[in-house]
Amino acid sequence: MARELFNLDGKRALVTGGGRGIGLALAQGLADYGADIVITARTKEQLEKAKQQIESSTGRKVWTFAYDVSQLEGIPDFFQQVVKETGGIDILVNNAGTASRYPSEDYPFEEWRKILTVNLDAVFLMSQAFCRHRKEIGGGGRIINIGSLMCKAARVMNPPYAASKGGILLLTKELAVDWVKYNINVNAIAPGFITTEMTQPLRENEKLNTWVISRTPKGRWGKPEELVGAAVYLASEASSFVTGEIIYVDGGWYAAM
Ligand code: NDP
Repeated sequence: MARELFNLDGKRALVTGGGRGIGLALAQGLADYGADIVITARTKEQLEKAKQQIESSTGRKVWTFAYDVSQLEGIPDFFQQVVKETGGIDILVNNAGTASRYPSEDYPFEEWRKILTVNLDAVFLMSQAFCRHRKEIGGGGRIINIGSLMCKAARVMNPPYAASKGGILLLTKELAVDWVKYNINVNAIAPGFITTEMTQPLRENEKLNTWVISRTPKGRWGKPEELVGAAVYLASEASSFVTGEIIYVDGGWYAAM
């Protein structure tokens, strides 16, 4: 009986940015616990490779949709198409994200807009489309946003990333309280430093790599699959009374001075 708490059989999860990195690990993890999966990103080859990996290891069904979430006006139609082709979505994981670094005083405004668009605007519009869909079929469902250590602290040269992830923190809480009436739980996972393509340049920079390892109490980088436990928890019955919460999966980062 207790194991049923984490069972995702019969659920369908849409993971944005599911072609690689954290999104792929979460899609794989949710499938391991029984969910069918819809993954979306821009790079078709990565989506196809991810689909084969997840289907062959879990036997779950995987749909792929190539979509650039920065095409904001298209998101409502995109979501409707996903619903039509798959039969509906129970769990939305807003994972797609991007970053780039320049000193704040020189940060190109165009780049600022690009990052806010993907990391925050698209998260809101995907969530809104999900909510309308769930409302239409009687409510219920889960949204899991992917935050960052930068939900509540800053690092130099990242102004739009900081603004977007700070925004994720309060957007998560706002939607959680607003959509309690539809029985949609909205939570977030804030990863520490995780080994993905996004953080490859940091690992290649000896000074930054040493800083990450020495600043993280666990003394190492996290692996994408170490975020799966939190995602399965937030997607499943185990977290039925949890909403508006941020789970830091950070190797102890915020526990330490
Ligand atoms: P990756 O760069 O490895 O993966 C990002 C994913 O998002 C890819 O699948 C990418 O696919 C997709 N994506 C990016 N832009 C778009 C877009 N415009 N439209 C659709 N999909 C897009 O990054 P991570 O796996 O590291 O990051 C995933 C999330 O985790 C992000 O939100 C990031 O901010 C967050 N995070 C990561 C941390 C880390 O240490 N790695 C730490 C804290 C938070 P494609 O390029 O094919 O579109």
